Amino acid sequence: MLSYRHAFHAGNHADVLKHAITIQLLQYLGQKDAPYMYIDTHAGAGVYALDSGEATKNAEFDTGITKLWGRKDLPPALADYMALVKGMNPSGKLRLYPGSPYCAEKTMREQDRLRLFELHPRDVKMLVENFRKLEAHEAAQGRTAPVRGKRVIVSHADGFTGLKALLPPPSRRGLVLIDPPYEVKDDYKRVKQTLEDALGRFATGIYAVWYPVLQRMEARQMPEKLKRLPANGWLNVTLSISAPVPDGFGLYASGMFILNPPWTLEPMLRELMPWLVKALGRDAGATFTLESGQTLPVNTGTRRT
Ligand code: SAM
Repeated sequence: MLSYRHAFHAGNHADVLKHAITIQLLQYLGQKDAPYMYIDTHAGAGVYALDSGEATKNAEFDTGITKLWGRKDLPPALADYMALVKGMNPSGKLRLYPGSPYCAEKTMREQDRLRLFELHPRDVKMLVENFRKLEAHEAAQGRTAPVRGKRVIVSHADGFTGLKALLPPPSRRGLVLIDPPYEVKDDYKRVKQTLEDALGRFATGIYAVWYPVLQRMEARQMPEKLKRLPANGWLNVTLSISAPVPDGFGLYASGMFILNPPWTLEPMLRELMPWLVKALGRDAGATFTLESGQTLPVNTGTRRT
C-alpha cells in the first residue's frame, strides 16, 4: 500500500525531532576522517514545498518548523539544523523544507556515501530530480564534490530488504535511518526484523528508528521490543506537543529509538528536549521522555593478575 505521501507532514514537530537528531548523529560520525555511509531506508522526496501542494492542506509545518523559524534563542543542538533550513530559503521566507536525504547530504563530506531507498514512484522521481537540481546549484556555486554518482545512490526499491546488501559498509562506519509510514501494521514487525538482521551483519552501526506515539498496541510495544535487541546500548526519546489525542485525530507525539547511540547524544538531548517542549508545546500536556539502557553485558575490563 503506497498511499502515504510525506509532503502532507513535512516540517511538522515529528520532522523537527527526527531531522535535528539525524544531523547530530551524522556530525558525530564526521568527527573522524574515515568515511562513513548513511542509509535511508525510507527516503521520501528529499525536498518539500511548504507554500503549495500537499503541505498546505493541513499546514502541519505550523506545529514544527514555523515555530522555530523566527527564534533568536535556539539551543546549540538546533543551530546546524536551522542553518540548513535557512540555507535553502535565502529570501528569508520559509518556502522549502528539507527531507532526511537533503539534511544528510548537506551535513556529509565528500568522502562519505549516501544510499537512499524510496518505493513510491512519484516520490522516488522527485528525489532523483531534487538531487539533480542540488548538484546543478552546487556546481554553479563552485562546489566540485559530486552530489550524485558513487557518492549518492537512489534506489527505487524496498528499503527493508535493500538494506541487507549494504551491510556492513566497506568503512565499517555508518548510520541507518529507518522511517517507514507505519500505515500498515506490518511496518512495526518489519522494523524489528530488519534491525535483528542488520545487527547480525553490522553490529557496531548506529541505527535510528522514527516511530509515531499512538495508542495502538503495535506502536506501544515496538520500542519495548527494540530495547531487547543485541546492541551495545539504546536511547529512546519522545516528544509530545500536547496531552494525548485518540488515534486518528492527528499526531501529537513521536519518538526516535537509537541503537548504539554515541555517548554525546544523551547529554545533548537532556539540554534540547525541555527547550523543544516549550517551543513546540500546544498545551500543558506537552512533554518529553528520555531513557537509555544497555542490552549486551557491559565489558568491565576484567584484569588478569
Ligand atoms: N525519511 C523521510 C524524511 O524524513 O524526509 C520521510 C519518509 S516518509 C515517513 C516514508 C516514505 O517511505 C514514504 O515516502 C513512502 O513512500 C516510503 N515507503 C513506504 N514503504 C517503503 C518501503 N518498503 N521501502 C522504501 N520506501 C518505502
